[in-house]
Amino acid sequence: MDKIIREIKEAEMITAFTGAGMSVESGVAPFRGEDGLWNEFDPQEFASVSAFAEEPERCWKLFKIQIEESFKSEPHQGHEALVELEDHGLNSVITQNIDGLHQKAGSDNVLELHGSLDRLICSSCKNIFKTEKFWDRIKAGGIPKCDCTKILKPDVVLFGEALPQSTLQQAWNEAENCDMMFSLGTSAVVQPAASIPKMAKRSGAKIVEINLEKTPLTEKVSDHFLKGKVGEKLPKLISRL
Ligand code: NAD
Ligand code: ZN
Repeated sequence: MDKIIREIKEAEMITAFTGAGMSVESGVAPFRGEDGLWNEFDPQEFASVSAFAEEPERCWKLFKIQIEESFKSEPHQGHEALVELEDHGLNSVITQNIDGLHQKAGSDNVLELHGSLDRLICSSCKNIFKTEKFWDRIKAGGIPKCDCTKILKPDVVLFGEALPQSTLQQAWNEAENCDMMFSLGTSAVVQPAASIPKMAKRSGAKIVEINLEKTPLTEKVSDHFLKGKVGEKLPKLISRL
């Protein structure tokens, strides 16, 4: 612990990389694991580009659950600790999450690699709407439509879809330029996002990982591994700065 504290104090530019485990303590279900959404919803059938093209109404069964969960959830102490870390050199939060919890907590510079459930997009005219505007209709089982009559899609990256290039480029820049990266609640297996901590490491950054279990990063990439909940471990660490 002392060594990590020293390294945080020495670091000039810190970044955080977060995954679904970051949101679990806020009550948002991860995809994999015991309570994972994929136990109930096959991703190819409910969250892929081809599924949405074939039968968007089916996909909306899953989207509705995800939107409701993210609207209801509140950030926890781990999210708040990241906001506090901005006073100690944190420059950005690169997230794979689509629930908007980092923004709700007040993080300044959030790079959303997989988009956000807070927005809906029309695949035809590319119009973007606030999900909130349609929430009453969605809650009642309705399907949101664009002015052009096409069914709207949450502005998130579905299976088979590319990541937003400019956000990915910004994330790579952060990884190359930071001298410390926190990898929080991510299994680090989903590509290309998983390559981000590796890139930071190659550029000389120290990697601090917090997870309930070991990941492919733990032995090979991470300089420090804190086993446990991010909502407990991270605030404890930050309180000592
Ligand atoms: P993931 O691959 O990021 O894995 C979750 C990781 O979090 C696991 O390694 C698990 O051990 C760890 N974890 C669980 N609870 C934790 C806690 N309290 N503290 C620390 N670590 C904890 O996520 P996934 O579910 O496999 O999803 C894959 C993709 O889908 C990712 O892009 C993910 O971000 C996205 N997703 C996002 C959300 C969201 O927006 N909240 C929810 C589900 C999935
Ligand atoms: Zn449209």
